[in-house]
Amino acid sequence: MGMFPTYNRFNVAIQSAEGSIVTDVNGKTYLDFGSGIGVTNLGHNNPEVKKAVTEQLEAYWHVSNLYENPIQHDVANEITSNSLGDYVFFCNSGAEANEAAIKLARKATGKQKIVTFDKSFHGRTFATMAATGQEKVRIGFGPMLERFSYATFNDIDSVKAAIDEDTAAVMFEVIQGEGGVIPATQSFVDEVVTLCKQHNILIIIDEIQTGIGRTGEKFGFEHYGIEPDIFTLAKGLGNGLPVGAMVGKESLGEFFGPGSHGSTFGGNPIAMAAAKAVTTKVFNDDFLQEVEEKANYIANLLEKEIAPMDKVIDIRQQGLMIGIECSEAVGSLVTGLIDKGLLALNAGDKVLRLLPPLTVSKEEIDQAIQMIKEIMQN
Ligand SMILES: *Cc1c(COP(=O)(O)O)cnc(C)c1O
Repeated sequence: MGMFPTYNRFNVAIQSAEGSIVTDVNGKTYLDFGSGIGVTNLGHNNPEVKKAVTEQLEAYWHVSNLYENPIQHDVANEITSNSLGDYVFFCNSGAEANEAAIKLARKATGKQKIVTFDKSFHGRTFATMAATGQEKVRIGFGPMLERFSYATFNDIDSVKAAIDEDTAAVMFEVIQGEGGVIPATQSFVDEVVTLCKQHNILIIIDEIQTGIGRTGEKFGFEHYGIEPDIFTLAKGLGNGLPVGAMVGKESLGEFFGPGSHGSTFGGNPIAMAAAKAVTTKVFNDDFLQEVEEKANYIANLLEKEIAPMDKVIDIRQQGLMIGIECSEAVGSLVTGLIDKGLLALNAGDKVLRLLPPLTVSKEEIDQAIQMIKEIMQN
């Protein structure tokens, strides 16, 4: 037989990819404005990442975490010197990074409850599925890991109602990605921070989609001027090589000592080589400045060309994370765009989501907007 039918795949098979362009087995080209769900942020076949990975491939592939691995230190240092985090734990995916965050929050606080939000997405393991505020993700899997509760995003009263003396952490995305590209408001984030400080509750920010330059800053939480106790990374960190990271404050270090947590593959040298090349490139003011310029460029076009269209209800954007909320389900738009030669994503039923590579060109942006405009006219 074959694979479990867990994915509803589009009828596109990719043969090669370069920069913002992917080519299928029939030679048809597409502009990739999904970046493999926010992963290939530096474009396909990125020369710096490729060089780093190729060199590592020539050197060695795996020795396990029983031995020193200098590149892990380099990547950890890149992340912590560019954020307010102090310690990094490496793993292989977003769900694993959040899993580590949840374990650490419980152990460090000695408390059990984790408050997350409606429409959030945190992964598909038992803990992260329980953390995810979307019923459809949990159906059929029996009793969930206990002590998660869901508050309403951007509603501080719902957070107040959800917390109690057993609450270890409040966990959220500063912009809900899968849930529809929904940004937290500044006042909401400020109030959550104040509330958590008052009650000795940790703040966990899930930066798996918003991190690594996607929103025009190194990390999404920078837009809000806050300091999470823990934040998690994955997606864009390896530009396509599987890698995740959980980043925390120094005071949490003692709770993740030897034997408390681990991963055979976590921080493996190939993924680390990619992450080192990615972070070196992205954590750079000139690079992020360019992302901002592209974001402004696309914002103007969206405002002028797409916002006036009948089907469009709202456009939400931070950096190159873009959600176009429509009056109808966007499934047929996404399929129509594939026919035209644009790979885009949905977020929930009615939001067309664009996550172009951070290296996208203005010409490519022009082409993509044109295709979106055409498809929306139908
Ligand atoms: C994709 C995503 C995850 C899950 O990451 P996986 O690597 O698929 O486990 C978790 N949180 C957010 C915000 C994501 O976008």
